[in-house]
Amino acid sequence: MDIASFRYYFLVFLVLSGYPLFGQDLEERPIPDHSAEAVFLSHYIQIPSITGKEKPAGEFLANACRENGLHVRLFSGETNSYNFAASLYPLETGKPNIVFLTHIDVVPEGDIDLWTYPPFAGVIADGHIWGRGAFDNKGHGVMQLFAIASFVEEAAMREFQYNFTLLAVSNEEDDGLLGAGLVAEHFLLELNPVVVYGEGGIGCTEIVSAAPELIMFGVEVAQKRALWLKMETSGTNFGHGSVPSHEYPAKELALATNVILNMKSKPVMTPLVLNMLKEMGYYEKGIRKFALKNYRFLSPVIGKKVCQEELVNSLLNNTITLTGVGSSSGAFNQMSNSAWATFDVRLLPGASSEEFLRILQISIKEYDVELIVIKETPHSPVSDTGPYYHALQQAIHEIFGHVPVTPMLMPATNDNLFFRAKGIPAYGLVPAAFDPEHVKSIHNVNERIPLAALDQGIAVYQALIRTLSASLFADD
Ligand SMILES: [Zn+2]
Repeated sequence: MDIASFRYYFLVFLVLSGYPLFGQDLEERPIPDHSAEAVFLSHYIQIPSITGKEKPAGEFLANACRENGLHVRLFSGETNSYNFAASLYPLETGKPNIVFLTHIDVVPEGDIDLWTYPPFAGVIADGHIWGRGAFDNKGHGVMQLFAIASFVEEAAMREFQYNFTLLAVSNEEDDGLLGAGLVAEHFLLELNPVVVYGEGGIGCTEIVSAAPELIMFGVEVAQKRALWLKMETSGTNFGHGSVPSHEYPAKELALATNVILNMKSKPVMTPLVLNMLKEMGYYEKGIRKFALKNYRFLSPVIGKKVCQEELVNSLLNNTITLTGVGSSSGAFNQMSNSAWATFDVRLLPGASSEEFLRILQISIKEYDVELIVIKETPHSPVSDTGPYYHALQQAIHEIFGHVPVTPMLMPATNDNLFFRAKGIPAYGLVPAAFDPEHVKSIHNVNERIPLAALDQGIAVYQALIRTLSASLFADD
């Protein structure tokens, strides 16, 4: 299958962590005649908010919410943990809450010389808004804010059964614990979410090779779990390199690492992934159509080959990646007395980390090393494709016509998991149309979002609010 295009589709999920901020003057750049949302996004981008320094951009966003008639509840106001809710009705009303989740923080700009326009200038040119965060996730937040704000008057005139809330959080590009994690842990009752719509999937062209212009929407309903491990040597045997002992720390570590990296895993055909492949196959032609639609039955034959493709491998397997290795320093002819390696493990939904760890430990038991769990993201169940999923699908169809919309598994993690872990369904989608070049710009140089996408996203969220405000689902 055409993994190149499929891979771009998922590049949206790459996660990096933050660096320090540098400032930039907001007012100095005159902006030509553009829509209010484009101008607003441009200003928002001009306040750098690299993880750890979210507060100024958070205050800017919260003020805009107040000015637009939303009720702002600040959950925490620290420089590195600025989190707030902005709602149609005050949270004290206790209404079941439809939460639109966005993160304020962005990743660092990278090599500034490679940018066409300065990363924190918010330039509007060539039909796009350019800058760090334009796509991930400031552009998305602007879609959500403008959609909710457009219902302020109507919500005052007739009492909606649901509240609608923009939840803006910090720290997503790190581990989310100072942002969505904190809100989910301490303010869930007050927020009272019945569903969360956050980032995750997108609408993208060039997914289906038989119809490259077709926009296919993937809605994230589940994520793999991250389990970060560190291997350390427990022996302290060292001495002159010219007379090696049979066992010494760096060797033990290298041998045990080799065992771990060569462990075979059996692909797990989750219904979610099979459904994703089948959905893509529906629009394909010829042999690709047949292969994708019948992946479950063909997998023993083609599985081996397909699993070599990185993305498919990551969707069908628990994966383990060696992310770092090192040892205590010494002279070239001196055996190090300690060594370490770090591993990024990603587990499929439902996989047990204890069981995975147990198997790893058995396989390396003959080596003098120790495996330590550094961090593990919470268990988060797959969100079902129930009424809130269908309302989103319907909103997409209203704006884009009858394009394919499919639930999907995400190999990386984002803030949605904190709510799934609390039993709240969460759906990840920036509801607009992009091409692979836009997706490649995420966490990269020349991050940008088409002006048209901004309007599409607002329109989809407005359609979603209309649908949901007209009905109250049975589970409330
Ligand atoms: Zn993001």
